[in-house]
Amino acid sequence: MKINKNYLELEDSYLFSTIAKKVNQFVKENPDKDIIRLGIGDVTLPLAPVVVEAIKNAADEMGKKETFKGYGPEQGYAFLREAIQKYYSRKNVNLEADEIFISDGAKSDLGNILDIFGLENTVLVPDPVYPVYVDTNVMAGRKIIFADANEKNGFLPLPDENVKCDIIYICSPNNPTGAVYTKDGLKKWVDYALKNDAVILFDAAYECFIKSEELPNSIYEIEGAKKCAIEFCSFSKTAGFTGTRCGYTVVPKELVKEGVSLHKFWLRRQTTKFNGVPYIVQKGAEAIFSEKGQEQIKENIAYYSENAKIIAETMDKKGIWYTGGKHSPYIWLKCPNNMSSWEFFDYLLNNIAVVGTPGAGFGKNGEGYFRLTSFGNREKTIEAMERFSKLF
Ligand code: PLP
Repeated sequence: MKINKNYLELEDSYLFSTIAKKVNQFVKENPDKDIIRLGIGDVTLPLAPVVVEAIKNAADEMGKKETFKGYGPEQGYAFLREAIQKYYSRKNVNLEADEIFISDGAKSDLGNILDIFGLENTVLVPDPVYPVYVDTNVMAGRKIIFADANEKNGFLPLPDENVKCDIIYICSPNNPTGAVYTKDGLKKWVDYALKNDAVILFDAAYECFIKSEELPNSIYEIEGAKKCAIEFCSFSKTAGFTGTRCGYTVVPKELVKEGVSLHKFWLRRQTTKFNGVPYIVQKGAEAIFSEKGQEQIKENIAYYSENAKIIAETMDKKGIWYTGGKHSPYIWLKCPNNMSSWEFFDYLLNNIAVVGTPGAGFGKNGEGYFRLTSFGNREKTIEAMERFSKLF
């Protein structure tokens, strides 16, 4: 018996445990200080009423012999795939419903998709980055190279013709930087992938925060992308499904590598290893796409976006360099006075009892940067920014 030794290569992530330790210590020493947490990546507003109603109705159906459902289609029920298909058509992206695979969230599929790719592929990951892209490939033993995201390129790296890779991760709007690719930027990646026979794994988990018609919500808004890209999306941030669990992955039929349809491979993988998302959850997700559902989720997104604006405006006033905040729930700022990420973390905690996330935890290029999120409460966000303004 041999273990998968690649797991030994994983770097321990101390980011959130170190934050928790430091905050607990601070609370112990300062029991009367009101701590404001602007580090959370989880949503805080509840599910939309129409979603709750749909989930309750679906639970009732499951309790009646006539409407009870057992195993569903592994790829998801047609009602949800068709609702997503219609959602895509608003931006003139035409997908077939069976190119959409319903998942229990983007994280699972971002990891699972690697099943269909050879181990000899070289993977290109931006730095800083959502750690899942790196760790899932380390577990499999693939070679990883990094694309530098930095102040110079606005944390939006573009392809380098001298660097050859086979699998490319792109996240836009980005976690942790909040930066968003324009159509031109994405086109450069699509052109590179087509020319070099690479596949792009496009993470659109934060697409709902995009407010400009000009910015792409989906990589399929770029010509040629169906021949080189798989897209992952999620209802986690769109509709507060972080605890309810539902998302989707788009694998176009045009995506053919080595003469093989990756759509067929993914279908085979899913029907073998996955038994689908609960009917009740899929009914809840379907309700997001009703007229009322769209209105209700937009209210929540607008709430978070206003928080982001409050944070971004404070950075503007203070002349602090940042990305994100406009089409993203994240504000990625340059630590003032050349502080390191952790120095700045301690400085904010000790002086104004505000907690954020040190950028260094997302990769070497994150050093000297800091992530604030807009998923908190409005009054607390305002209060945190008032304290911040007094400090700088
Ligand atoms: N992709 C990115 C960039 C994320 O930040 C997250 C969650 O924070 C996910 C995917 C995971 O989303 P889900 O809740 O759908 O698994």
